[in-house]
Amino acid sequence: MDTERKESAAECAAALLAWYDAHRRTLPWRDVRDPYATWVSEIMLQQTRVETVIPYFRRFMADFPDVAALAAADEDEVLKHWEGLGYYSRARNLHRGAVQIMEEHGGQLPGDAAGWRAVCGVGSYTAGAIASIALGQPAAAVDGNVVRVIARLTGLRENAAAPSVRREIAARCEAMMPGDRPGDLNQALMDLGAGICLPGTPRCDRCPLAAFCDARENGDAEELPLLPRKAPPREIPWDVALIRCGGKVPVRQRTEAMLRGLWVFPMAEGHSAPEALAASLRALTGLEVRGLRCAGEARHVFTHRIWRMRLWVAGADEDAVPAAPFRLVTEAELSGLALPAAMRAARRIAFDDGEEGS
Ligand code: SF4
Repeated sequence: MDTERKESAAECAAALLAWYDAHRRTLPWRDVRDPYATWVSEIMLQQTRVETVIPYFRRFMADFPDVAALAAADEDEVLKHWEGLGYYSRARNLHRGAVQIMEEHGGQLPGDAAGWRAVCGVGSYTAGAIASIALGQPAAAVDGNVVRVIARLTGLRENAAAPSVRREIAARCEAMMPGDRPGDLNQALMDLGAGICLPGTPRCDRCPLAAFCDARENGDAEELPLLPRKAPPREIPWDVALIRCGGKVPVRQRTEAMLRGLWVFPMAEGHSAPEALAASLRALTGLEVRGLRCAGEARHVFTHRIWRMRLWVAGADEDAVPAAPFRLVTEAELSGLALPAAMRAARRIAFDDGEEGS
């Protein structure tokens, strides 16, 4: 990099850090300088809003304060702490990563970004965030917010999803990084992307980097970063059934890749008429259901698909036993299991709905 560009990058970083010092939010995972805490927080923050993460982070750190405690926990227990946060593969990988660190490194956390990238579920972004924030090393942490800020700031007008362009964005971040505050620079870029350099219309009039910004000068900030158009999520209809057998309902633990390890009520793909649904439920659970009635609808949006659920209530014999892998649980037992958000509306209906479905 020539001297003039280096000076400009240093001035830009200084302006950004001054803004960060004045506007940074106090968050429970900031300033702790504990790679484990940064790891947990960064995994929770992926695809999830800061306000949502705060109570989950506090609970998680209280119950699993270090890597040894997390590795010693059951996966079910970890998933229960994640209930409602979504993207459950994050929790499973976090747990697996903790076991891996205990087994392969005797509980010693990696000391740099390359070491962290070898941990289960940790990609370049998280490795860079841990190395810079908790270990004070000059590693870039490029997430969607940082891609947007850097593409606009430096006028990068190429497909920002391409690996070579991502690498270029990381290099441009690292070129800005001051030796003494790499973690703060990454967090400042993230905060700027989350609050000022917004997708759609950026708030350039409030931006500390306005004087340095290529896209602002060029008038094309709203078009950057250049990203390929995403396919819309696919809608999948489901019938979900709460079958009351006495005071219990059948549930099963999912083994499919999506929501693996979480508990669900019997569900059949499609929206069927009651007779056809009763036959599907018999095939699924072995239970003879009666009095099937539709009790509501719910919708859950995942990254690539949307579940449109019709929620049914039905009854079965009090002493009926469902076929494996289903098992009967009481309301109290159900609250101890990790249910995905998609099943929460169904749970409410299962136990709040006063009328018996038989
Ligand atoms: S000036 Fe506008 S486009 Fe440029 S970094 Fe700031 S908010 Fe983003």
